[in-house]
Amino acid sequence: MSIYATWLSIDDESHIIGECAQYARATAEEARAAGGYAVSGDRYWLRDRSVACSCGQQAPIIYEGSHINPSAEDPRGGAVLFCAIPNHCHPSVRGTDTDDGPSVNYGRLAVYQDDGESCTLVLDRKQIAQLRDTLTEWLDSRDPEEAL
Ligand SMILES: [Zn+2]
Repeated sequence: MSIYATWLSIDDESHIIGECAQYARATAEEARAAGGYAVSGDRYWLRDRSVACSCGQQAPIIYEGSHINPSAEDPRGGAVLFCAIPNHCHPSVRGTDTDDGPSVNYGRLAVYQDDGESCTLVLDRKQIAQLRDTLTEWLDSRDPEEAL
């Protein structure tokens, strides 16, 4: 059993069913006949990947090389996950009756390519702060209204 809890997942499974145009309502019979389908509550949904995502919760853009400019229309796939260890899984309280425990100052960063290759690293608190600061600096230095 994993001790990690997912805090962030950027992947192809994060679309907002009921909002994203890739998902269309279906009857239970239609869903079962199609094979792959989603269920939310008592509603069934069929996914059509040929329809453009309208919810904005897409997978990352597939990396095509260091000489290729990416664009929003490029193929998507793979995933980025950030996971952390809950306090109740701190080694000092793990396996006890308490849900309280000290903070675990490590996080797991995993990146999955579309072809299945992956890399998983554990970052300490200082490295996580460096990553946060770099991402914040990058975001603050860009104009979100400019193309590319
Ligand atoms: Zn979507």
